[in-house]
Formats: sequence, C-alpha cells, structure tokens
Amino acid sequence: MAETGILTVDDLLTLAPRRYEDRSRFMTLAQLACRPAGEKGTLLVEIRSSRLLRTRRRGLTITRATVTDSSGEEEVVWFNQPYLVRHLTPGRRLILFGGMSGADGRPGCIQNPEMELLPKDESGEASVHMGRVVPVYPRTAGFSSRQLRRLLHQALAAGAGHAPDPLPVELLRRRDLPERAAALRALHFPTGDVDPEELVACRTPAQRRLIYEELLLLLVALHLKRQKRRRGARSWTCLPAAGTDADLKSFLPFSLTPGQEKAWQIIAGDLRGATPMARLLQGDVACGKTAIAAMALLLAVKSGTQAALMVPTEILARQHHTRLERLLAPAGMRVGLLLGGRPTDASRRLKAELAGLEPCLVIGTHALIQKDVRFGNLGLVVIDEQHRFGVAQRMRLAGKGRHPDLLVMTATPIPRSLALTRYGDLDLVEIRDRPPGRATVRTEILPRSEAATAWEAVRSAATAGRQAFIVYPLVDESKSSDLAAACAAYADLGAGALAGLRLGLVHGRLPARERQATMAAFMAGRIQVLVATTVIEVGLDVEDATVLVVEHAERFGLAQLHQLRGRIGRGSRPSTCYLLHGDRLGDESRQRLAVLERTFDGFELAREDLRLRGAGELLGVRQHGSMGLRLADIVRDEEILQEAREDCLTLSAAAMPEELAQAARRRWGQPLGLGSGRESEVGVGPGHDHP
Ligand code: ADP
Ligand code: MG
Repeated sequence: MAETGILTVDDLLTLAPRRYEDRSRFMTLAQLACRPAGEKGTLLVEIRSSRLLRTRRRGLTITRATVTDSSGEEEVVWFNQPYLVRHLTPGRRLILFGGMSGADGRPGCIQNPEMELLPKDESGEASVHMGRVVPVYPRTAGFSSRQLRRLLHQALAAGAGHAPDPLPVELLRRRDLPERAAALRALHFPTGDVDPEELVACRTPAQRRLIYEELLLLLVALHLKRQKRRRGARSWTCLPAAGTDADLKSFLPFSLTPGQEKAWQIIAGDLRGATPMARLLQGDVACGKTAIAAMALLLAVKSGTQAALMVPTEILARQHHTRLERLLAPAGMRVGLLLGGRPTDASRRLKAELAGLEPCLVIGTHALIQKDVRFGNLGLVVIDEQHRFGVAQRMRLAGKGRHPDLLVMTATPIPRSLALTRYGDLDLVEIRDRPPGRATVRTEILPRSEAATAWEAVRSAATAGRQAFIVYPLVDESKSSDLAAACAAYADLGAGALAGLRLGLVHGRLPARERQATMAAFMAGRIQVLVATTVIEVGLDVEDATVLVVEHAERFGLAQLHQLRGRIGRGSRPSTCYLLHGDRLGDESRQRLAVLERTFDGFELAREDLRLRGAGELLGVRQHGSMGLRLADIVRDEEILQEAREDCLTLSAAAMPEELAQAARRRWGQPLGLGSGRESEVGVGPGHDHP
C-alpha cells in the first residue's frame, strides 16, 4: 500500500472514513422514491434481476438491475461499470447509497449508487458491517471499503492503537479530548450514541482528538526542524563594514516602501545574527520582493561568501540576471547565470568558480541543483517563486553549503494556516504594501463570444505605444493538442483581429534561442503583443504592458490568475485584464472568477482561494497531497490548528515531552527530512517543473 502512504498499522488506523452510513435503520425504497430527486439514502435491498446493456454510442455501458425490499421495487442503473453485472445475481443482498433520478415527479430510477455487496451468509461478520453506524472508506490500494472495514475491525480487536498515548495527559484534560485508543475505536466504529451531525462535521470528540493530534505532531515536527537548524552554526559571518544598510540601499534605484523596510530589518537581523536564517518572505505580486532579495544577496557576497538565487524559469533567471548585473556592475561584482541544457565553456568556467572559495553571486534555474554543481563557500540561498519547487529541491540547494541562510519567496501570498502547516519550518515575514505610483488594474470577465472587446483593447494599447500579453492555458506543455490550439490562435489573431500589429509567440517547447530572442524583442518593445503560455506566469516585469487577455480563464487557479494579472499595471498607466471564458461556465468557476473582479488584494484572494478549493489544490496539482494530512483539513479545522499552535508554543517554551517529540518524528520525520539524518536528499512532494 506504499503508494497510498499506508505503510504501517498506524497509517491504517488513521485512514479517514470518507463518510458514515447508519445501518441500524435503513431507508426503504418507497421512502426514497418520495424524496426529492438526488437526495441520497442508505438502503438494504435484494436483487431480483439484472442485465448489461451496451449503447450504440461507443464505450457506454449501462448495468440495470431490479431490486426489492419490503416496501416495493425499483430500477437501479450504473453507467460504465460493466463488471458489476456478474455480482448482481438474483437473490443477492446489497447495500445501496444513492438517490433517485428524474425530476418533476417523473418516474426515475436509482442512478449510480455506491454499493456494498453482502456475502451470502452474513452471520459471521454481521456486527462489523451491519446494524450500526459504519464507516465507508475511500478505495485504498485496491482494497474495497468493506475489506478495509474488516481489516480495521480486526486490527482494533487485536489491540492495535494501544501504544502509549503520545499526547500528555494534562493536554488531553485541558482540551477535553479522549485518549488515543478510545478515539481510534470511535473514529472507525462509532457507538450508537454518537451525534450524527457532529460525525458529518468531523467534530465528535474522537475526530477532534485525532485531528488535533495530527496537527500538533506536525507543528512539533516543524519546531524540531527549526531547532535542529538553529543548532548548526552558520558558516559565514556578516562583515559590518561591507553591509551597512545605507551601502546596500545605495544600489537600488528607488527607496524602500515602509513594508519593504520592515521586512528588510527582520531579514537583515537574521543575516547579521549568529544562526542560519530560514525565512519565508510573503508579499503580493509586484510588491517588490526582488529588491529585498537583492540586498540580502549583496550583503552576503560583500561579506565574502557565495550566494545563489534559484528561480523556476529560464525567462525569469535571465530577467533577474540582467537587472542584478546592471545594479552590481558598478560595485565591480560579477553575476553568474546558470541554466539547463548542454554544458558550454561559460557554464564550465562558472561551475569551476563556484567550486572555489571566491565570493560570488549566481542566478539559475534547476540547473543549480544538479549533481555537478558544487559550491566551495555557499552562504546564502534565495528561492524565488517557491510554489514551483518542492521542499526536496529547496533542501538540495541548501545542502550544497554548510548551513547556509535560506530565504524563500512566494509568488503570491498564501493564507497563514497554510503557510503554518506547509512551511512551518520557516519563519514568516510579510510585505503588506506596494510601491507608490502604481496604476490600478481593472479586471473584466467576458464570455468567449465577446472577445472582440478584448482584442479592441489590445489594438488600442499597441497603437498608443503600449504592450499586451495574451495567455493560453497549457497545463501540460507536452500535450500537443493544447499547444496546437495556442499556435493556431496566434496565427488567427495575426491574420484577423490583430492584423498589422507586431506579434510574438513563446511557449515552453520552442528552442531556447528562439524563445529568448522573442522575449528580448518584447522587453525592448519591438514586439507589441506577446502570445504566450504560462511560461510568462512568474515574475516577468515589463512596465509598458497595460493589457492582459487570458483565454480559457476558467482553467486556471485563482492564485495563478492573480499572478498572471501581476504582469500588467507595473508602470503608472491604468491597465486592464480580460478573463475570457467558455460560453458555458459552471457556478463554481464563475464564483472563482468573480473574486478576481472584486479584489486585487492577494492576501484576501488567497483566503478565498483556500476556502473555495481546499488546501490540497491551492498550490497546484503538483503539490496536491504532498502535505500528507490524513484526517485534518486546514480549512475546516482552522480552529483546532490554532489550538494546536498555542499548545505547541507552550510546550516548546518548556521542554518538549520526549514521547511527543518521538511521535512527531515517526509521523513527519521522513517527509520533513527530520529523522533520517540525510537532510539533503529527502523531502516531500514530487516537485519539479522545468519550463
Ligand atoms: P515581486 O514582489 O512580484 O517579485 P518585483 O520585485 O518584481 O515584485 O517588483 C515589481 C516592480 O516594482 C519592479 O519593477 C521593481 O523595480 C519595482 N519596485 C520594487 N520596489 C520598489 C520601490 N520601493 N519603489 C518603486 N518601485 C519599486
Ligand atoms: Mg518576483
């Protein structure tokens, strides 16, 4: 069961039921038929007959069965589950969970219900699966819900879960939580007196206790990780002469905003302190995080150590490189650039330099974490747009130095609860304001059929000497149909709506040279309209861009759209973002897009996004599940998280109880790179992402 994260009995014991069924009282078929269509109930029925139908539409199969109970009979259908039919033999009993189709009083049938077949002779296990509130599990590692229920019942009966409770008794008493073994039993096999509403809301004492435990252990593990890092002495000392604030600021073409100033004070404090920094810098798109990063990098290099900045795309690496080089050349500082691809003379020379002890600054993509890149004297690591990297990659870069300082920057803010659980091993600092004189960005949501409005805006911007982006969703750059769509649209626009304008196209599959040339032409204003895939999503900074059109906006996440929208309104001219969507837009998508129309505040947006989509998806598919919470849900359980946080603080202020620390290591040590001792090579999340 490794791929599902179930490796131990304890993993099995903390497998969360998807829902519960009250099998002490079944609904009858007659009762279900009186309910509004779609309202679900749990039924105990017997098969009268069944058959498999294949429709003319290729691939569609329908399994039909007639079922009965004491109240009458109904038709049941399942779509595309042809294998069911061989189990549906006359006389067989089964439990259904589903609702009636057919609205407005028209006769319906029970459509696509979940089902559990009962064995021909139920007597042996009746008390496990019947006559009580039973858990229904997600299919896990090929085991059906029924098999899992049986396994869990056996495990609990054999005394599993009776290991000493890792939570201190005082804590349980103070938070009024049951002890572990009892909670596990009640999670899987709730007794008759359980409150059904609490059960559905995951708020029974047993559920609360286990959720609390999971979150507390996570917070404790993160605390241990921070502590471990603080114990490692940093390898470099900040030289006071080299890094006065005035000196560092003299390189910037502007003065810091109050928010930047505050963030810098905190970060500078870390850099000048005795132990390595590990910080997450949060701020809305275009709030000016790069300036802070530049000052940190400069401070490190001027103090005689090496500093590295890792970014997710080549385009962004080049942009940072050009800017920092321009800033730092007067100081006589060289800035290296390391990208993927075949080694060149220049990249070989750069690698040789990094392997030495000379202070230097390097900017790069994932190329920086390849095996053949060694640092002789790495003192500071900055990671920009962290959402594109996995924890493992972050650690791999840091692992190339001896306890280097680490500064991680978000693309757009993420909610505190998420930052706490996901990046809780990092200290948090935020920039809440933006540079002065910024234009407003208006956001307009349009159905595809009204795209002409957007093209008109693109044309008039270009005519007035401004620039525009048109973005196509290419979730998977290797999917050629998507790519073809973007290329075709590019050709169409050039010949039609945007004829006569200078257009350019970039996507991840263009040869690097070509992509680079197009980007450079756009940055220099020679190209007026850049048609692009999401390769432009992160970081790109072009002051003259005032219009952004996003095609199929409904396919993007909120945070990503906000990040895209951050490509415009960077200068002082009012800008407009057009979000085009298909003509049939679902309610949920409409709601999501409406949030963007309403607000431009990334912090508020992040909260909405978390609420609408849940924690797993917020950071994109790639990171889904990597957080690895089994029972807790940080949206639903924010309050419990808060309690756990308070308790973790109290506990860590004294001495962390050893059993608790051990349990935290057992549960989270591996994914957090805590327990194994080989910190540079372990981590959660698949993380990857090359442009
Ligand atoms: P992000 O936080 O999204 O990485 P950037 O660091 O790219 O934002 O900054 C966005 C733009 O704002 C850049 O063009 C940068 O030069 C400019 N900028 C940053 N800080 C200031 C400031 N204090 N005053 C004026 N402009 C600033
Ligand atoms: Mg940035």
